Amino acid sequence: MTDLSKSDFPAGMVWLVGAGPGDPELLTRKAERLIRSASVVFHDALVGPEVIAMVPARARLVHVGKRSGRHSKDQATIDKLIVAAALAGERVVRLKGGDPSIFGRATEELEACRAAGVAVKVCPGVTAASAAAAGMGLSLTLRGLARKLVLVTAHARAGEELDLDWQALADPDATLAIYMGKAAAGDVSRNLIRAGMPPETPVALVQSASLPDERHFHTRLDLLPLAAKTALGDGPALLLIGKAMQERDAAPKRVADTVSADR
Ligand code: SAH
Repeated sequence: MTDLSKSDFPAGMVWLVGAGPGDPELLTRKAERLIRSASVVFHDALVGPEVIAMVPARARLVHVGKRSGRHSKDQATIDKLIVAAALAGERVVRLKGGDPSIFGRATEELEACRAAGVAVKVCPGVTAASAAAAGMGLSLTLRGLARKLVLVTAHARAGEELDLDWQALADPDATLAIYMGKAAAGDVSRNLIRAGMPPETPVALVQSASLPDERHFHTRLDLLPLAAKTALGDGPALLLIGKAMQERDAAPKRVADTVSADR
C-alpha cells in the first residue's frame, strides 16, 4: 500500500475517520492507511475490537467512548484533547463508529480544529444502517414501495422527552433507520401508530451488525416495545421500520417486478 502519510497526513493534522460498523473488512482502504499512519488514535466505544487491533503498537490509543449513561469523556473534553494532540505535532486519528457525519458529533470536532487553526479532514465510513440491511439480505429502499430512507436518532437528552416530528416520520413510503433507539422503542412504536402508521408495519431489529454476535429480529410496529425489551442485549442496535423490512421468507414473490426492475 502506498504510504501517502506525508502528503495528506502531515504531523499536526487531524483526520476524523469512519471505522464502519465493526467488521474490519468494512473499513475503507483510506481509513486503514490513516489508522496505520497515526501517532495517536482517539476512539469511541463503538469501534470494533478488530479495527482497534489495527492501530500500530507505536501509536498511543485513547478511549474517549460514550455509551448512554456511561460517559467517560464529555464532548468538550474530546474536542480539547484532539486539538492539543495536533498542536503538539501528532498525527491524530479520531476514530468513530460507522460514518463520522452520521450522529457522530463531527461538527463539534471539525469546528474545534478549525478554530485552533488545525488542519482537519473526514474519511467516510459504512454506516450501521447499511451494514444492518446487508446482514439481513434486504434493501433499505424498495422500488415503488420505499422511496425514502430516513436516518433518525431517538436519543433524548437526559430527563427530556423525545422531540421528533412523528407526523413526518409516519410515512408509509419511507424506511426509518432509528439510531440509538433501543431505550425509546416504546415511544417510537406508540407515537408512529398514533400518527397513522399501520400497526402491522414490518420492523427489523439488528444488533451488532457486521460483528460476530450480529443478531436480527423481525416483528411489527405494535409489537416493537416487547421485542426490544426481550430480544435485545447489550450490543448496539438499530431499529428499521417500513415495508422494505418485510422478512424475506414472508415477502410476496415479485418475480415480474424483479425482472423489469431498473431497466
Ligand atoms: N456514526 C455511527 C452512528 C453513531 S450513533 C454510524 O454511522 O453508524 C450510535 C448508534 O448507532 C447505536 O446506538 C446504534 O443504534 C447504531 N449502531 C452503531 N453500530 C452498530 C452496529 N454494529 N449494529 C447496530 N447498530 C449500530
